[in-house]
Parts: sequence; C-alpha cells; structure tokens
Amino acid sequence: MKKEINGKTKIIGIIGENIENSFSPLFHNQIILKHSLNFCYLPFQVAETDLGEAIQGIRALNIRGVNITFPYKEKVIEFSDELEESARRIGAVNTIVNNKGILTGYNTDVIGFKKSLQDNGKFVIKEKNAVILGAGGAARGVIYTLLEEGIEEISIFNRTLGKAKKIKQDFSPFFPQSSINIFSFEQDSIKDKIREANLLVNATSIGMASQIDNTPLPDEKLFHHNLLVYDLIYHPVKTLFLKQAERAGAKIINGLPMLVYQGIESFYLWTGLKPEGKEALGMIEQSAYIA
Ligand code: NAP
Repeated sequence: MKKEINGKTKIIGIIGENIENSFSPLFHNQIILKHSLNFCYLPFQVAETDLGEAIQGIRALNIRGVNITFPYKEKVIEFSDELEESARRIGAVNTIVNNKGILTGYNTDVIGFKKSLQDNGKFVIKEKNAVILGAGGAARGVIYTLLEEGIEEISIFNRTLGKAKKIKQDFSPFFPQSSINIFSFEQDSIKDKIREANLLVNATSIGMASQIDNTPLPDEKLFHHNLLVYDLIYHPVKTLFLKQAERAGAKIINGLPMLVYQGIESFYLWTGLKPEGKEALGMIEQSAYIA
C-alpha cells in the first residue's frame, strides 16, 4: 500500500476460512508501506464450496497472487494451472502467483519452517527423531522439510489415520533412509514416541484463537526438557500446548517466525523484493504481542 490506492495498485492477498485470525495482512501491508510499493494485501474469507470460483476470480480480477491458508492448502491444487516442483511433491500449496492468467502454485512453508527451526530453534535436523501431530496441508510441508534435511525417524499422529497413511505413501519412496511411522491419536505409542523424540510439532489447528483452552496433547506429563516443542499456531502467540511444554522445561517456538519467513518468500514471488528477515520478524512480533 502506498499512501493512497490508485489505478496502478496491484492486489495481493490471502484466501482461507478463518481469515480474521491471520496476521498475514498486517505483515505484508507493513512491508509494503516500509518499501513504498504500489501493492495492497487483502484478506479474502472464502467458504469451501466457493473455493473454485474464488481461484477463478484471481484471473478475472487480475490479482497478482495470493497466499492460501487453513484449510485449503491441499484442495487448492485442483484449481491451479501449474505446480512448482516442491509444491507438487508435497501435495500442498500456500502461494499462488498469477502470470498473465497462468496460476502457479508454490509451497513457501518449507523454507519458512526450515529457517525458523535453524535460526530460532538452533535445531540441527539431521539424524534426529521427531513427532508430528497432524497430517493436513501444513504438516505435509513440515514433514517434507524434515525428510529432505535427513531426519532419522518421524512419527505422525493424526485423528484421520488415512491422511497420515497417504503422507507415508507419497514421501517414503523419495526418502528411503528415514523411517516414517503413522498412528491415530488414540494409540498409546504417543508416550514412547515423545519420550524418544528431540522435536515435537503441533501441525493441527487445535489451540487456535477460537479454541484457546484446547490442546492436541492433553497429558501434560508427556513433555520433557530435552524436547524442542514447536506450535505452528501463532494466534494466540502462546498456546496452551506451548505453555505446558514451557512448564516442563522444553524449549518452545510459536508459528510467528515461520509465518514471517514463508511470507518473505511469497512476497518475493509476487513483487521481486525480498525483505530482511530479522527486521520483518521484529515488526510482526511487536504487533502480535499488542494484538
Ligand atoms: P488442515 O490442512 O485443515 O489440517 C488440519 C489438521 O488439524 C489435520 O491434521 C486435522 O486432522 C487436525 N485437526 C483439526 N481439528 C481437529 C480436532 N478437533 N481433533 C483432532 N485433530 C484435528 O490445516 P493446515 O493448513 O495444515 O493448518 C494447520 C495449522 O497450522 C493451522 O492452525 C494453521 O494456522 C497453522 N499454520 C501455520 C503456519 C505458519 O506460518 N505459522 C503455516 C501453515 C499452517 P484430520 O486430518 O483428522 O482432519
């Protein structure tokens, strides 16, 4: 956004179901203002039944591109014209770029998750052991990143076992050196797997702003001080899951660094400008704690 919107302003934005909880509009518009770009980032709340039409609208309205968020990262693939290689392998898209009516899907969550683990978590992925809660669009990006970086073992727990099974099926052929275990949430194995893990990630939507008293891991005793505990959720900035992990002495990371680092990559795809990471994170952290 420049000081005013005019006939040359380019529109970018975000499509999702609970857009009022997203910090992406705040983040992108702060960057736009700081760099005096003639862009404007808008929130588009879209019902699942309207997703196809909304994506068609990107072409019709000559929108430069959008982020895709919860819960459409997988479903949006059928409406994209092309997929960048990692988005195709992951099976989830969080960014669409409109080049003269051709809509290309990208997955910048991968870079966002990797950079936040390295920079904010000081975590070396190679030969480690991780437990992932969830098997949706975001979980697919997280799991792919960990496999690509040489994790030794991943245990995926999900309410719908079939979705975890599909991840194992899709990813194992590319990463034969890593072992992928799948479980439904009801299975007792969660205790053993978390005890042996170095990294525990909440990639479910449980604990988001609309349900702050919920946690995907009701038994607080499962956290331990050798864990890095990562919640992809950033609103609230500290979920019940993270509060309990912190009480158990674990190191914690919320979803803000990932939001910023994936956002920087998406912003670059639309505008050709790559904002500086630490500065962008500082800006959004300040706003998030005020919100
Ligand atoms: P999604 O594709 O809809 O997946 C949602 C996941 O949560 C699925 O595994 C689902 O299980 C599980 N889940 C939802 N409600 C549940 C319940 N009541 N009980 C048990 N499991 C439940 O969504 P997504 O795009 O992966 O997003 C997941 C979360 O990550 C959201 O909170 C999103 O905001 C966050 N996220 C953050 C960033 C960031 O930059 N920080 C990036 C991406 C996503 P089923 O498969 O059984 O339905």
